[in-house]
Amino acid sequence: MIENKVIITAAVTGSIPTRKNNPNIPYTPEEVAEEAFKSYEAGAAVVHLHARNPKTGRPISGEEAVPIFGEYLKLIKEKCDIICQITTGGGATTISGLEQMKRLKPVEVLKPEMASLNTGSMNFGRSIFPNPPDLIQNFAKKMLELGVKPELEVYEPGHINSAIELVINQKLLDSPPQFSLVLGTAGGIPATPKNLIFMKESLPPDCTWQVIGISRHQIPLGALSVMLGGNVRVGFEDNVYLSRGVLAKSNADLVAKMVRIIRELGKEVATPDEAREILSLKK
Ligand code: ZN
Repeated sequence: MIENKVIITAAVTGSIPTRKNNPNIPYTPEEVAEEAFKSYEAGAAVVHLHARNPKTGRPISGEEAVPIFGEYLKLIKEKCDIICQITTGGGATTISGLEQMKRLKPVEVLKPEMASLNTGSMNFGRSIFPNPPDLIQNFAKKMLELGVKPELEVYEPGHINSAIELVINQKLLDSPPQFSLVLGTAGGIPATPKNLIFMKESLPPDCTWQVIGISRHQIPLGALSVMLGGNVRVGFEDNVYLSRGVLAKSNADLVAKMVRIIRELGKEVATPDEAREILSLKK
């Protein structure tokens, strides 16, 4: 029975928050793997990963990130069968033009089960997050070839349209699309219940989706997503607080909180294998 199951993704480190924001943010591969494992034990079926310099926590992408992601995957797989999802979003350090293709390098080498695919450009804080149409399609084509399921990340309604036109209508997916509706970034759609409902209603038929609520919106929008039939992402990448003014000690605290809410709402938490079935992943 997968109908009543909710997939929890733990975004355990991200690229923006640092230990100044929360001293418990994992930087080294061992710490990242341990946080992934604790999140799995608490109920997460998917772990979303960014590469960081183990000493400084600086975000790393491209070729340089390959050994770091490789280490993450190896250590995580030794501990549990959680689904590993690698970012292709890069880090806070933006690289330009064709150089952007380098963001796909770790996915090409390591072939994780899933990878993020951003389907639109935008202002992101004080930076520009460039995802031009050619890049989106090149990423989608490569992922299709490699058998890596994309997680279509949309930060505003126009990105949904781009995903439909550039990826879905071009038959660059071999299974139903999985969307991540990101609400509350500086430059993206604000995190309100009305906006989540609007985004959800803008999705194409026959897709799966999750909400990514930024900062204090993580848990409330997660709860609304569960009520609307969606899945949820929690974790330090998007939010470092367990409750107002209280820093989470581990990503697992945030996962556990979401598990309690899901159960109170009459649903159950998907295991990694149930999530594979829901997301049509090839194992
Ligand atoms: Zn990410």
